Amino acid sequence: MTIQELDQAYVAHTYSRFPVEIVSGRGSLCRDSAGKEYIDLGTGIAVNTFGYADEAWQQAVASQAARLQHTSNLYYSEPCARLAEMLCRRTGMARVFFSNSGAEANECAIKAARKWASENLGPEHFTIVTLRNSFHGRTLTTLAATGQDRFHALFQPLTPGFIHVEAGNIPQLEQAFAEHKVAALLVECVQGEGGVLPLSPDYARAAEKIVRDHGALLLVDEVQTGNGRTGSLYAWQHYGLAPDAFSTAKGLAGGLPLGATVLSDKLRDIFAPGDHGSTFGGNPVCCAAALSILSRLDDSLLAEVREKGAYLMSVLSALPGVEEVSGLGLMLGVRTAAPAGRVVAACMDRGLLCLTAKDRVRLLPALNIPMSLLEKATEIFREALVSLSE
Ligand SMILES: *Cc1c(COP(=O)(O)O)cnc(C)c1O
Repeated sequence: MTIQELDQAYVAHTYSRFPVEIVSGRGSLCRDSAGKEYIDLGTGIAVNTFGYADEAWQQAVASQAARLQHTSNLYYSEPCARLAEMLCRRTGMARVFFSNSGAEANECAIKAARKWASENLGPEHFTIVTLRNSFHGRTLTTLAATGQDRFHALFQPLTPGFIHVEAGNIPQLEQAFAEHKVAALLVECVQGEGGVLPLSPDYARAAEKIVRDHGALLLVDEVQTGNGRTGSLYAWQHYGLAPDAFSTAKGLAGGLPLGATVLSDKLRDIFAPGDHGSTFGGNPVCCAAALSILSRLDDSLLAEVREKGAYLMSVLSALPGVEEVSGLGLMLGVRTAAPAGRVVAACMDRGLLCLTAKDRVRLLPALNIPMSLLEKATEIFREALVSLSE
């Protein structure tokens, strides 16, 4: 059997895959099993922060794997402690809980908020408010947080205590806080799966004020927006927010599974031994990978991300067949006249990997993608659009 046949036969059919098997990569280029080369503007959905087989990342991973690949959370280990310190130093936060995915990082933020609100506001303050069209993960609780009904239908009952309000609608948010005993508001600064839609800065500020006025917590989901993706280390920094906790994952370890829930001083002591845990959480190899990634996300790299984002935004906006480009930094959503799925397929034919998000083509290139490849990628994108308008 071919790899595609084996996968079809034995792997659960939760994904509709393209008929392409990716076998290797270097930087922002990768190759399929037929030897065809692609420029990758998807980075495995914002995971491969510095592209494929990045030298420094490989070195960090390989040397940690050779030294100690895992020890349980019963013992101390250096990469985990150093990464927690780095995350806190760079964000002004106080403590970190490590897990393995974005959904788990959000689960932990929700558990922290529920425990804090129960102890500080009263046990009836368990409601978590999130936004319509949001995406927070696939566990039953993070599905409940996700404000998209299409994910909910098959898996009832979901975890209770979640309500969803429309992004940008300040009166509706005020009403939600007036009518419910709210523990926390959980938001993405840029809705990723929802179509790469940034919150308006006015709304974000107003939302934070409503949260503060009610003594509730502000949780920011930085799973996709985090780790330099939007041109600041975390997108809440760009918005001038002061979250009580934020979650991150995807790009944190540059291609290995690692989630982090980063707690502010207010939540520093929210968890006691036994309250929460994860066998793999804080894995030394994943943390060593993340240290390599985070230590390179300095001011000059972040400035580069903003410049490349602005370049992509201006070039793509001017292409015939492009109706709108949304997003922040190197997290962009392109609304095209042709259906997004057809644009992605036409790009793939021509050696360019892109993603979709709702009705948009989503671009999440490696943060260190060379300008020459970005120029080439936009030219392929233009050709793909032309082919669809003929
Ligand atoms: C991808 C994503 C998640 C879920 O992350 P997993 O690692 O797939 O569990 C949660 N929130 C946001 C904003 C995401 O983009």
